[in-house]
Amino acid sequence: MSETIFSKIIRKEIPADIVYEDDLCLAFKDVNPQAPTHVLIIPKKPIPKLAEATDEDQALLGHLLLKAREIAASLGLGDAYRIAINNGEQAGQTVFHLHLHLLAGRPFSWPPG
Ligand code: 5GP
Repeated sequence: MSETIFSKIIRKEIPADIVYEDDLCLAFKDVNPQAPTHVLIIPKKPIPKLAEATDEDQALLGHLLLKAREIAASLGLGDAYRIAINNGEQAGQTVFHLHLHLLAGRPFSWPPG
């Protein structure tokens, strides 16, 4: 797949405000936050988008969600946070390396815009 800015962040070639890292994933603050807390949680495996994940990625996808839960707890977000995945350009995806948005610290409306 093609290289993205997130590959460079994983390799520490460009800086990011990292809040969590393990063998499978990396979490760092979004450079253009849409809420007082806005963290991106990404797999180190370069899956371009959710639609391109496969059955082989089942454990990895579960890992990302459970880490989102842990990171939310470690940041003291309580139970008031939103997890979002934009899949595809028309859904707002701009970086084609799968990522979960963890957003908190303000009210969120529904449906999202
Ligand atoms: P998407 O629109 O693809 O769902 O989300 C991509 C997110 O990545 C955006 O919220 C954007 O602000 C963030 N982003 C893009 N480039 C960088 C970067 O170089 N560093 C960080 N920390 N976030 C980035």
